[in-house]
Amino acid sequence: MVLFATNTTFPTARCHVRGAFRIATLRGIPIRVHYSFLLVLPFLAWLFGQAFRSAAQAAEVPPERLMGSPLAWGLGLAVALFLAVLVHELAHSLYALRKGGEVSDITLLMIGGVSRITRMPQGSRHEALMALAGPVTSLVLGGLFLGSYVLLEGARSFNLRFAVFYLGYLNIFLGVFNLLPAFPMDGGRILRALLTGRLGRVRATRVAGAVGKGFAVLFGLVGLLGGNFILIIIAFFVFMGAEGESREVLMQSLLNRVHVRELMVARTAAVEAGASLEEVAERMRAERRRALPVVEEGRVVGLVMLANVRQVPASQRALVRVRELAVPVPELTPEATAWEALKEMGQRRLPQLPVVRDGVLVGTVTQEDVMRGLELRELEDSNTHGPWGLGPRERESPT
Ligand SMILES: [Zn+2]
Repeated sequence: MVLFATNTTFPTARCHVRGAFRIATLRGIPIRVHYSFLLVLPFLAWLFGQAFRSAAQAAEVPPERLMGSPLAWGLGLAVALFLAVLVHELAHSLYALRKGGEVSDITLLMIGGVSRITRMPQGSRHEALMALAGPVTSLVLGGLFLGSYVLLEGARSFNLRFAVFYLGYLNIFLGVFNLLPAFPMDGGRILRALLTGRLGRVRATRVAGAVGKGFAVLFGLVGLLGGNFILIIIAFFVFMGAEGESREVLMQSLLNRVHVRELMVARTAAVEAGASLEEVAERMRAERRRALPVVEEGRVVGLVMLANVRQVPASQRALVRVRELAVPVPELTPEATAWEALKEMGQRRLPQLPVVRDGVLVGTVTQEDVMRGLELRELEDSNTHGPWGLGPRERESPT
């Protein structure tokens, strides 16, 4: 049985893993469980139960030394394994937090765990150590369980001793499997960090991504031939992850070279914070806009969107001031990069942001503006450097 533990760094418009619910919060990190985890749990309990049964038969253990049904032990082992995956993920996340990163949540799902790191610690050294923290923790846990197994030699319960042994084995497997350089798995992240110094982040990601896809194909073949459907799912995740992250890193590199002033539209229409929602609705119709900046004493204090207006019944819109509904927005200057703008919009789920110089509204930038800028920059680069703009400038770009 294989399990997969990874961390992902999607800062832009990626949403939560859908269909997951929170079970706990540790050090401010929400721990979530995906429904697929509940589906796989009985299956794992059954599978591990079989292992208990056949181990007892092979060792010719008398029934009175088993203590409990194999299925109950199997379920206990499956839960313990997911707790071990959680500890592995916490190791990644706590390292990231300690080094100035941001973690939005940890989700347990059918194939293991995923930490969502919304901001990585700066520098490829920290990235490598963050990736290493998980497998090292699994290997240490595995060593502790195997050590306990030896100490439990005189234990009366065969099943207890077998559970401890099996947990040790599974944790060692988890540590070793995740060290395979199959980007975006941990080993692949370490590989990318090692390559970044020599190749730059975009090319390092591309190389690591290609190796990751090679492993994905291999996992898929082994999974198909061996009838291991979890390995097939992992193959799919690794392949899509390698593809998605390569694309994202390339996008980040391109967007870091474009500034908001090149993308923004000099729209300075805004509404006063004291205006009623009725007036806002009227302005939106007149200006043909789905969102408007909100200003107070000449300074931008937020953004009001069509959805905010729609929340309030039409009969009450004359009574509600826009100040009460305006969404606070970050200070985005014309000098900010397109990447920063997209990241802010993605994290706050806003379709657009006002652009402000010295507190005064100078324009707005939308997600479409950024994507259009990206496409035009790609076109420009493909004219000068061939496809994807992998020219000499790439190494100098901030990462
Ligand atoms: Zn990991």
